[in-house]
Amino acid sequence: MDQLIKSSAYLNQVPAIFIITDSIGDIEYVSPLFTEHTGYSNDEVIGQNPRILQSGLMPKALYENLWQTILSGRVWRGELQNKKKSGELFWEKAVISAIQNDGVITNFLAIKEDITAENQLRDELIASKNQAEERDRLKSRFLHNISHEIRTPLNGILGFAHLLKNPHLSKEDMVLYTDIIRMSGDRLLDLIDNYTIISSIEADETKVEITPTALNELLRDLYASFNPAMTNKGLLFNYSISLSEENSIIETDGGKLSRILTNLIQNALKFTRNGRIDFGYTRKADLVEFYVSDSGIGIPEDQTEKIFKPFYSIDSILSSGDDGGGLGLAITKGFVEILGGSIRVDSVEGAGSNFVFTIPYSPVNPISQQLLKAKSDAIFQLSPLCILLVEDDSTSSLLLEQILKGQNITFLFAKNGMEAVELVTHHPEINLVLMDIKMPIMNGYEATKLIKEQRPLLPVIAQSACTAKEERENAIQAGCNGFITKPIKQSELLELMRKLILS
Ligand code: ADP
Repeated sequence: MDQLIKSSAYLNQVPAIFIITDSIGDIEYVSPLFTEHTGYSNDEVIGQNPRILQSGLMPKALYENLWQTILSGRVWRGELQNKKKSGELFWEKAVISAIQNDGVITNFLAIKEDITAENQLRDELIASKNQAEERDRLKSRFLHNISHEIRTPLNGILGFAHLLKNPHLSKEDMVLYTDIIRMSGDRLLDLIDNYTIISSIEADETKVEITPTALNELLRDLYASFNPAMTNKGLLFNYSISLSEENSIIETDGGKLSRILTNLIQNALKFTRNGRIDFGYTRKADLVEFYVSDSGIGIPEDQTEKIFKPFYSIDSILSSGDDGGGLGLAITKGFVEILGGSIRVDSVEGAGSNFVFTIPYSPVNPISQQLLKAKSDAIFQLSPLCILLVEDDSTSSLLLEQILKGQNITFLFAKNGMEAVELVTHHPEINLVLMDIKMPIMNGYEATKLIKEQRPLLPVIAQSACTAKEERENAIQAGCNGFITKPIKQSELLELMRKLILS
């Protein structure tokens, strides 16, 4: 071997990372590529044991196996995660063996190859394969879930619609059946709504509408709407507020906040048999911290994170039948995060749960808020409106008329885009258009473009059953000033009209 070392002038030219040690494992020679690769100079490593390269991340058993193999004269092949002089970790593929002279080990030789990049690529490939598999599982779960969740209310609708045909049905039964049909329809709508919301959260496409939101008023409304159900179930129900009326008006997306609290209170109601449910908020520096607590069945400790994932439900006798498909808390968490906060749950199985979430406290100037409200109320109460309702479906048209009834409004009706354009030409008193999109003869986009050519300032609200982002974008491009999805909610429509007429 001395000879070999002496011929290091030759060895230095071998384009590989390798180490030669003596029989007890101390380094005698390292190749120039080793120095380049590890950052250790010749002088720093000669006489040292190669363990200076160890990262401490490989199992002890691996080294035991390595030594056993090479001491028995066999070749060890494997991968090692080592550390450079700088501390940087790297992966190498090593081939290590003993060099013998007349059956006596005189040296050990380790030839290595840096495989950090390959390993990184492999890890990335594995991660993306796992991700794809997870997405696939989620998709299957989603489809399975959709089918099950949609079938149940449809069953109610179809079954009771059939029973309604019975000519001898009593009046009470008729009312009962139509109520069931309506409730099942509402449930279907909720489901479709939830699926749309969760996919827009996951695609990062959720629209946020920050408006002044009166927290105290919101909590009072929620209390009033849930109180009858709580009393029915024999539960104590209370809420607490901690800011004055003026200071409780904050800038946030009130619709989403209301949805978050509604979801949590609904769950508390669902999972509590007896005892109490409390909700409320306190201000904590620049945050508002809300809570919804119950004395219900509680959540096992190992599930308190998982329940926030889409489609996750814990099997329990209380959740069977009318569950919402495990999307409620996923939407709740998504909305809290969109509003700039975080959510957690503290729970004791069998004793109850306390859901706590925060959102930023950004107060609104109370005076400007009051002025704004007074102005909008005045306009809505005093000024008569003439609305052109463009809708080919007579039921939808009737529904819109009923929704807006009593708001000091007169209506003109058009059944397609062409009629709408004509009515606008002949009726300068029209000061708002509610425009359906899909219509025969001329669709809503075309009609809006022509109307805007005549009266660019006339506000047009597109109303469509399609919630796709493109539909909204197309409507805005055609000149619509607002967009509302069917089924139309009265409060949402009035709010939008208020905004457009005030602006
Ligand atoms: P869903 O109620 O539709 O199943 P959610 O996402 O709202 O879906 O809730 C997920 C699961 O978390 C529920 O199925 C239930 O097991 C559990 N959970 C939620 N809220 C509570 C609560 N207040 N008490 C006990 N368990 C709850």
